Amino acid sequence: MQQFRRTADDDHDYTETYVTNIGHRAFRMEFPKHKVLYDPHALFCERCGARMERRFIPEEGKERDACPSCGYIRYFNPTPIVVAIIEHKGKVLLAKRAIDPRKGFWTLPGGFQELHETLAEGAARESWEEAGAKISIQQLYIAYDIPFAGQATFAFIAHLESEDFSPGPESLDVRLFTEEEIPWDELSFRTVSIALRHFFADRKTGIFPVRSILLEQPENP
Ligand SMILES: [Zn+2]
Repeated sequence: MQQFRRTADDDHDYTETYVTNIGHRAFRMEFPKHKVLYDPHALFCERCGARMERRFIPEEGKERDACPSCGYIRYFNPTPIVVAIIEHKGKVLLAKRAIDPRKGFWTLPGGFQELHETLAEGAARESWEEAGAKISIQQLYIAYDIPFAGQATFAFIAHLESEDFSPGPESLDVRLFTEEEIPWDELSFRTVSIALRHFFADRKTGIFPVRSILLEQPENP
């Protein structure tokens, strides 16, 4: 496993690991400490409606939101997000966001994984919903850890199955861009710019190694 930190021409640091061995060594990696931005709370019990209490759970060594009436504990876990890098005749498909956050910025089609679907199915579904794009998934490309935001993002490489695509309700526009045409200053998220940079660099060799990237909290979020 190769790990290094880079600032490159991105605004923020991130740690990148080539996933040649994602075994036991992965959890020994020294992750930087994160301030917690995303810290959700449950106000009322989902089971009985009583007001929840923040309580230290000795067995878990953590504070959780717990119900003093029925004992229910509400767990919050990271949310998986899926995105698709869709290539067609040397170009990559981007959608212009019609909704916040980052309304008006160009993005890779993607969104939250739904219950009962695989990561790849989620990427294909989001591509259809946001860009009217029928795609075939080729491979998993980048797994992003985003602990400060309580998220994990999975980027897939895909091929466009038909040139018949059009913006869905969450998009203002959908277009195919060559590498030179990519609007780098108008991209929606760090995950998108990092994925595109790697994609175009790897395309020169035709080898797309699966990467694990840890996104750190921005200095000025
Ligand atoms: Zn309860």
